[in-house]
Amino acid sequence: MSPEERALQLDFFVRMAAIGASLLIALFVLLYLRTRDRLKARAWRVGIGYDVHRLVPGRRLVLGGVELESEVGLDGHSDADVALHALSDALLGAAALGDIGQHFPPSDQRWRDADSLDLLRHVAGLLARKRYYPVNVDLMIIAERPRIGPRVPEMRQRIAKALGIGVDAVSIKATTNEGIGFVGRGEGIAALATAIIEPQ
Ligand SMILES: [Zn+2]
Repeated sequence: MSPEERALQLDFFVRMAAIGASLLIALFVLLYLRTRDRLKARAWRVGIGYDVHRLVPGRRLVLGGVELESEVGLDGHSDADVALHALSDALLGAAALGDIGQHFPPSDQRWRDADSLDLLRHVAGLLARKRYYPVNVDLMIIAERPRIGPRVPEMRQRIAKALGIGVDAVSIKATTNEGIGFVGRGEGIAALATAIIEPQ
């Protein structure tokens, strides 16, 4: 074998070894990422929340951080945003951090007429202190009127921003109570929420 041929052969082996090593590294990285994601998913925690507020004349109607046009509004200590209260409770519940009554007692003047988006941000902060972050949230608003659907995109955006997650991780659905019960009679609005959080 001539020196040129030997050099060519060596070059070929070096190239093959480099390709083999790259493939092996890529495989390890893939395996590592898959295992990490699986372990992370196993550490997911879920929480549930529920809230009701009475509808009264002379109050603003704030739902999901958005003010809606209405002759009646929700009564309560803060802005009485029933949707954000249910959501806050779901997030606190997922982290086993109690409920909003504990963190924002009506006796505390700090939260009087508070913007519930501030409450939600505060809840996200409490979770972050325990290194928990929301994965996705799902909200159900049960109200006879007004029509909520057209304002849902705005609500999703505000909630996503407050929680620091993508809009596609925030789901909001609205339904009526088919004229039945206190919601059906327009005496109040109810909301249900679930939230999944993950440790970081
Ligand atoms: Zn409430």
